[in-house]
Amino acid sequence: MTPAPGANPYLNPNLAEFGTTIFAEMSALAVRTGAVNLGQGFPDTDGPSVVSDAAIEAIRNGHNQYPPGPGIPSLREAIARHRERFRGQSFDPETEVLVTAGATEAIAASLLSLCRAGDEVITFEPYYDSYAAGIAMAGASRRVVTLRGPDYSFDISELEAAFTPTTRLVLLNSPHNPTGKVFSRAELTQIAELCVSHDVLVVSDEVYEHLVYDTDHVPIATLPGMAERTVTISSAGKIFSFTGWKIGWACGPADLIAAVRTSKQFLTYVSGGPFQHGVAAGLDMDDGFFDNYTVAMQGKRDRLCRGLTEAGFDVIEPQGTYFVTADIRPVGGRDGIEFCMGLPERCGVVAVPTQVFYDNVDAGRHLVRFAFCKRDEVLDEAARRLATLKSGG
Ligand code: PMP
Ligand code: GLN
Repeated sequence: MTPAPGANPYLNPNLAEFGTTIFAEMSALAVRTGAVNLGQGFPDTDGPSVVSDAAIEAIRNGHNQYPPGPGIPSLREAIARHRERFRGQSFDPETEVLVTAGATEAIAASLLSLCRAGDEVITFEPYYDSYAAGIAMAGASRRVVTLRGPDYSFDISELEAAFTPTTRLVLLNSPHNPTGKVFSRAELTQIAELCVSHDVLVVSDEVYEHLVYDTDHVPIATLPGMAERTVTISSAGKIFSFTGWKIGWACGPADLIAAVRTSKQFLTYVSGGPFQHGVAAGLDMDDGFFDNYTVAMQGKRDRLCRGLTEAGFDVIEPQGTYFVTADIRPVGGRDGIEFCMGLPERCGVVAVPTQVFYDNVDAGRHLVRFAFCKRDEVLDEAARRLATLKSGG
């Protein structure tokens, strides 16, 4: 691992703990070694041509200058329709929807706009890497509550204890990366009740909202008392498999969205004009597209879980996302970082050690994450290679 550049005299000390992101590092390792890359979460096939054709047409039709600050109207309207159709939520596209440079910018802008220096942000660990950096950039500090296997549940008394007078918001992620956990309605109700009683905001990262298997996705904003205190975030990168386009959005009450927009204006101002046209076309596709996407990814989940189990891993089957975590101890691993750094050489596969997403590193030391948003033959080849570990490969 690249050490965090603590000694860099130029770096803002708030960011001293952050080195190169694990995703960049593992993708570079895959390129360097020619290994099968089940590390960084990006699909290896393109999304629907309805979406890409609309973006190409937008370029050809001259939509190549700055789009409006909050996003093009047709995309904001399509986001509101999509949210209404799938989640029963109602947002005014004029004031309650903001298009961002991926979900990453929506998260960063929310933290920068809503947190005051010294505020605390509660999040569950393992946490997506940009959360810790975004909290630090906002001058806030993080309080983590650990999700523990085998089902990645949390201890309610640990969560209650995390709320203090300086808690500003809960940064929630469901479906959850890297565990694949989908928070249940009962769990979300517990979180929501605490947020209401402590008068705390929620930033809800729902980028994997269409990748939920055998259960339902419940947006926390739909629970009592939550709509007025929640910013809900999603991303076309995940819904349409165009991760490089970086089109995301935030929805919520007008004053919260206006606050998020204040920071967003000075981060990127705007981005991805023609891509916004593509995503607008995609969000209006019929239910069949979204259903097929979920079913196809569920098939890949089952395929990789089977392969990993046959290879000897202890697999924690995910209810959502395109990631599966596995315990490496049955195949002789002890430390995820060591295991993942050696994996390309041992069998030609790249995975991500999830301990880098924990403050309590011991809780995740034995876990690694595999991405299954890949062609079936790629998943099969990875499983075949991983199976050689059993024979001392
Ligand atoms: N949140 C989570 C949980 C993610 O996994 C990702 C990664 N893609 C993002 C946010 C960032 O999304 P985007 O690529 O749209 O910035
Ligand atoms: N969200 C992707 C993942 O979890 C990676 C995106 C990134 O590299 N920032 O693998």
